[in-house]
Amino acid sequence: MYAKGISSLPPYLFAEIDARKRETEKKGVDIIDFGIGDPDLPTPPHIVEAVCNAAKDPSNHRYPSYEGMLSFREAVATWYKQRKHIKLDAEDEVLTLIGSKEGIAHSAFAFLNPGDIALVPDPAYPVYNNATIMANSTPYSVPLTEEHGFKPDLERIDKGIARKAKIMFLNYPNNPTAATAEKSFFKEVVDFAHDYEIIILHDNPYSELTFDGYKAPSFLAVDSARDVGVEFGSLSKTYNMTGWRIGFVVGNSEIINGLKLVKTNVDSGAFQAVQIAGIAALTGPQDCINQNVEIYKRRRDLLADGLRSSGIELEKPKATFYFWAKVPSGFSSISFSMFLLERTGVVVTPGIGFGEAGEGFVRFSLCVSEERILEACERIKELNI
Ligand SMILES: *Cc1c(COP(=O)(O)O)cnc(C)c1O
Repeated sequence: MYAKGISSLPPYLFAEIDARKRETEKKGVDIIDFGIGDPDLPTPPHIVEAVCNAAKDPSNHRYPSYEGMLSFREAVATWYKQRKHIKLDAEDEVLTLIGSKEGIAHSAFAFLNPGDIALVPDPAYPVYNNATIMANSTPYSVPLTEEHGFKPDLERIDKGIARKAKIMFLNYPNNPTAATAEKSFFKEVVDFAHDYEIIILHDNPYSELTFDGYKAPSFLAVDSARDVGVEFGSLSKTYNMTGWRIGFVVGNSEIINGLKLVKTNVDSGAFQAVQIAGIAALTGPQDCINQNVEIYKRRRDLLADGLRSSGIELEKPKATFYFWAKVPSGFSSISFSMFLLERTGVVVTPGIGFGEAGEGFVRFSLCVSEERILEACERIKELNI
């Protein structure tokens, strides 16, 4: 009944965890959920106010433009200029997205013919792999190993595969590993993309969630990155707006135009009131970002101390709101997740859910209050792992 691309999707491992979580909850266990990467903090009030006002204006009730309001795209360009010192042409180097996930998934349809190869990091956000499969193309796994800083070892990608590959997905600061990349790495990526004529799709939703003075470089900070790729951005994590569905893609205008062609025929743009709220987010006071970062930093430090004192090995992340923690010996990522859930009510995501190379790790997200983090750490400590 289903199309080949849909029938070939891998089983959704997280559904199994979800089912177990609900079962455990039904038994009356108090669940502490480190599983989801979805801010528990509310959207800042000035942004909420902007959407309320815009929603009352009838001129926002009609179809928006496909490429997004020019005023929103200009706000993105200004934000890039101010925060990243990168100049963008709002007319053809910026496109509004209905959340960056939408644009990432549709990219597969813009650039892949059946049988084409996409280079997909492993572990990774599952959309890269699954959108490739839905486009009847072939994901080629590029392992992110601890020895290599959870960055792809470009030298080790088979040359024949590289020559055939059409696109490559990347994501730094990284979900799920919390690894970061420096400009020098992006430079290597740009050279690789030039050599093998590969389109680079850099997914950057955690660009602003950085700690201890660290600043995450934009992929476009590298000269000539704009010849080979684009960068996806999102308001979801930066401004606690996951439910609003608003994001953008910036960079190479020809790549952006390909994505626009798909979108013109699939969706009809993002609700203007939401884009206007997006403008309020991008051009309004930015201290809400620092406040968020401070909150996640406190949570990060509490969780790191708590887990380390229970003998769980992890590195304190410089960015993102995730911990990529080593599974204690004797466990797989699934068995450890199930063990934690059954014995403590603590939910984490098994690394294998992000790809085979994610085995041996679990992901904790920091979308949990300090009080609950302390409670979770106490329960884990009592396990005497
Ligand atoms: C959260 C997340 C996204 C999705 O962001 P939206 O703009 O809400 O669609 C994309 N990529 C990664 C790696 C994420 O973690």
